[in-house]
Parts: sequence; structure tokens; C-alpha cells
Amino acid sequence: MKTAERLRGVLETIDRRSYGAYKQIAGSYDFADFTLHIDYVQGDPFASPSRLRALFAARVAQLPEELLFPEIRRTATADFLNRQLARELGPISRPRGSGKSGMVRILKPGQQILERTSLQIDLQGQIVVRFTAGLPASGRRVLGGQAIEMLLKAVPSALRRVLAPATRDLERLRRHVRLAEDSAALRRQLSDRGLVAFIPDGAILPRRSGVDDRPLAASEAVRFQAPEGLRLTLNAPNRGAVVGMGIPQGVTLIVGGGYHGKSTLLRAIEKGIYDHIEGDGREFAVTVPGAVKIRAEDGRSIASVDISNFITDLPRAEDTAHFTTANASGSTSQAAAIAEALEVGATSLLIDEDTSATNFMIRDARMQALVDEADEPITPYIDRARQLHAELRVSTVLVVGGAGDYFDVADTVIGMRRYLPADLTAGAKEIAARQRSERAHEGGPWSPLQQRVPDPASIDPQKGRKSVSIKLQTPTRVLFGTHELELSALEQIVEEAQVRAITQAMVHATGRWLDGRRTVREALVGLVEEIRREGLDSIDSRQAGDYAQFRIYELAAALGRLRTLRVQAPERSESR
Ligand code: ADP
Ligand code: MG
Repeated sequence: MKTAERLRGVLETIDRRSYGAYKQIAGSYDFADFTLHIDYVQGDPFASPSRLRALFAARVAQLPEELLFPEIRRTATADFLNRQLARELGPISRPRGSGKSGMVRILKPGQQILERTSLQIDLQGQIVVRFTAGLPASGRRVLGGQAIEMLLKAVPSALRRVLAPATRDLERLRRHVRLAEDSAALRRQLSDRGLVAFIPDGAILPRRSGVDDRPLAASEAVRFQAPEGLRLTLNAPNRGAVVGMGIPQGVTLIVGGGYHGKSTLLRAIEKGIYDHIEGDGREFAVTVPGAVKIRAEDGRSIASVDISNFITDLPRAEDTAHFTTANASGSTSQAAAIAEALEVGATSLLIDEDTSATNFMIRDARMQALVDEADEPITPYIDRARQLHAELRVSTVLVVGGAGDYFDVADTVIGMRRYLPADLTAGAKEIAARQRSERAHEGGPWSPLQQRVPDPASIDPQKGRKSVSIKLQTPTRVLFGTHELELSALEQIVEEAQVRAITQAMVHATGRWLDGRRTVREALVGLVEEIRREGLDSIDSRQAGDYAQFRIYELAAALGRLRTLRVQAPERSESR
């Protein structure tokens, strides 16, 4: 390994030379307390920035053992250090010449505590940081002095401020770790307690805006308060008793007047699959890991999905057990989203009327009288919700403000009034008994879903001379090879780094797991288990620092939205 002084020497030597001279600095350097690895050097100041890594050995980092085990603590510790580092590197990143000169970037965590490849801690306590830097240039000439200031002064001192034991904020780090551990522990208790989700008293659920995931100012927000009847206590290992509202398994409705906080509650439930940072307002608001948001998304493509439990006998006699379209309707897209989620093992479905197709959710008595059932391809969700729970043990949490017919199929009814929940189950049941719904039940038995085997040749990230080209056009839209992949309907994705990881995982899986023989479920379960075993790095050999953990549901949903995807039936049939 070369010394840091040697790096300085080279940068002095290549000052003012043409940019290509930077290629010489690739390699590893000893900075005494850490090592700096320049893994990839950009070709010019406007190209993707150079990729760097810093390694702090365990004996230098001196992370207390209790922050490393079990795994959740290690993940939370890494998340915390990543956050601190993103904050410290912010001011260091500044223009130092042309193009991307002087930019220093590390993944910036949002409100959720996640595993990311930008900062990893191994079992021994070694810390690896991955970040990018724009090597300074004037025009296309090396600015050696700027590079020395950046790589030998600014970056090392920021790294040391966060990672060296002397300056580390150990008290806050411990709190962060305890919070993550408590949150994960509460989530694990849900199933045993017969719950889908839990929202603690005092939580702040509304967000600052539709594009700002931080909490609404405490002065403007009404804090959550569990209603009598749904109030219960869970136990967190560090914090102890946490009181709040439990949402039971089965079919739960969230009702109430417009603008009274229904969707906000559902959104908090959607995000309860993640642990949130201190001050987020959703700390300890937890949801079972298999809860999947389902929404309509007309225009999406669908590749041979079995939507026959919801839709049969379309006018052009399409086969709805293997439904394929390049342009789905609201109802077919929503049916496909459910089938795709169930295919990979979803245990709860979260649905909001705001983002649903009305005809998918309900067909009322008058409409049944006017339009003969034989002429209506759709079996509405209201006629499947109970069955999903009774036969498949799949719960539903549904926001519904307009369709009281749903009282007939509900186990629990939560009423939102001025942002506060009430238990309206008894009232709703009483009304349902008194005012009988005239509508007739539709739909027959639930038929097991047809299994699908993706054709790996149809998953093609190639573009021009590049065998793999994945570009984010927006935080939720990817140019995958030459095709656009729109993921904005996957509302439980919280970071761009998840989108990168999901699309890269699809590439990694193609040929390996998506091998033309395994079903969607077999392939994606295999892939997710590989990642759990070997870490997120297993999806990419380049030691990239811009991936974050993701679930099998978002992975399956992304795969299903690839417009090129083709699938066939498996040789042996298997079903859920
Ligand atoms: P609904 O789905 O019932 O129509 P929303 O959940 O969309 O209502 O909420 C309406 C508005 O009220 C939103 O702007 C939301 O941010 C705000 N809001 C929701 N819950 C709270 C709360 N607990 N305190 C303050 N404002 C809230
Ligand atoms: Mg709403």
C-alpha cells in the first residue's frame, strides 16, 4: 500500500496536466488511522464522479460490542454514522473547478433506518465508507492543489470527525440504536398479538408536505391518541411499555369525513414496515413486514398475470388467468397489483379509495340491477376481502369514505374525526344490521393463482455498447436498457437508493435466479435470501455505494412493470 504522502506527490506532479493523468492515482493509500481506496477514476470532469472508499479498522473505530450485535444494532449504527457523514460532507462538497470538480457525495439517508452500501460495518467492527468525488479540473486540466486540499485535508478530517472514537457522538448513537431495536421488536410482536399494525400514542403522522417526508411541525399537528377499544400495550426491550392503537388482522376500514386524516393514517401504516429516526413522529408506528400498498395505475403493462379472481369474461375474450396488456385499465391494474403481491407472499393489503378504481372496489345494488352480472367482468374487492382473510390469511386495511356496503365485510371500523381515531365497529355493525344492503354477493370460490416463469431473455438492460445501462431519470423512473420503467406507484419505496438496488438486483438475478425454469416466487425468494446471506453487495461486483435494502414485494412489482417482460407457464404446476 502507498502512503498518503505519495498521493500528495503524484497530485503535485500531475498538476496542470491533462485530465487523463488522474488515472495514476487509482489505488490504496495509508492515512495512518484509515486507508483510502480510489477504486475508479473518472475520465473527465463532466463524467460520473470517481468512486472512493475509506476503511477504518476495528481497533481504530473502537465500536463498543453492544452496538454491533445483534444485526439490527449494527444496521442502526451504520445508518447513524452514514447520516452524520452526509451532514459533514455537505459543506465540504463545493465547486473546485469545471464540471463536477469538487463534489463530494455519500448517500443521504431519509427518515428511515435502512441498510445501505454507502456505510457498512462488518462483524469485527471494521467500518467501510463509500463515497464519490469529482476530481478537480480547470477546463480539462488537473487542478492538483485543489485535489490535495480535497483528498488530503477536507475529506479525511470529515471522516475522522464522524468515525474516530474521540469525536463520535456516542450518546446519540446509542439512542438511535435503542430506537431501532425497540421498533423492530414491536414489529415482531404484531403477529403474535393478532395485529397488522400499531400506532403509538403521541405519534405525529402528517408530513410537512407531499414532497417533504419530515413531520408536520408539532404546533400544527394533532398527536395520535388510541381510541378506547383498540388501545393496547406492547413491550419494547429498551423503552418498556408503549401504549397505542392496534389494528387487528382481518378486514379493517378507516372511515370518516373528507380531510379528516384517513389517508394520512394509512400512509403511516404503509411506512410502518420501516424503523423511523428519532423526531420523525412515526417512531414505534410499526406494521407487519408483509403489508403491501395496492393501488390503481392505469397505463401500466401487465405480463401474463392471473387476475381471474377479480376479472373474467372481458369483451374481447382475453384470457384473464394469463392477462397481458401494454395498457392496463384502473381495475385490471389494481387486480394485477394484488395478484403480484400475493404471488410473493403478501400477508396484508393496504388500499386507499383515493387511489383505487371505483368499479374495482364496489358495485352497488342499483348498478347490479341495471347491468347484468353476466355483462360485468369485475368481481369487486368487497366480495373478495373476507375470502382473502378466511382462506389465505391475508388481511385488508382499507380507507373508505363513501361506500357503507363495506360495513358488511368489516371486522374493525376505525373512524377518523379531526385527525383522531374512534372505534366505530359496533356502530357500523348495528347500522349494517338495521339498514340491510340490497346488493347481492358476487364471485365464486377463490382459485389458486397461476404460477409464472419469467423468460430471462426478456429482461434486457442493454443499451448501445453497454451490456448494462441503468439510469434514473427521476427518483422513481428508470431507463432500464432502452425501456422506461415507471415505479412511482410503489408507494412503499422511500429512497432512490432502493430503486437503484431493485433494478440492479433484477440484472443480477437474470440468468442466475430468473433462469427460465424458476417461477417468479422461487426466483425472487432465492434472490432475496442470497442478499440476506451475503449482503447487498452481492448484487454488484463494483463495490457501489448507492444501494439500500428493499423488500421482495417492491422487487416483484418492479419486475412486473418491465414493459419487455415475457412469462410462460411452469412445467409443473404449483399454486398458492
Ligand atoms: P382524508 O384522507 O381523510 O381526506 P388526509 O389524510 O389526506 O385526509 O388529511 C387531510 C390533511 O390534513 C392533510 O393535509 C394532512 O397533512 C392533514 N393532517 C392529517 N392528519 C393530521 C394531524 N394528525 N394533524 C394535523 N394535520 C393532519
Ligand atoms: Mg384521503
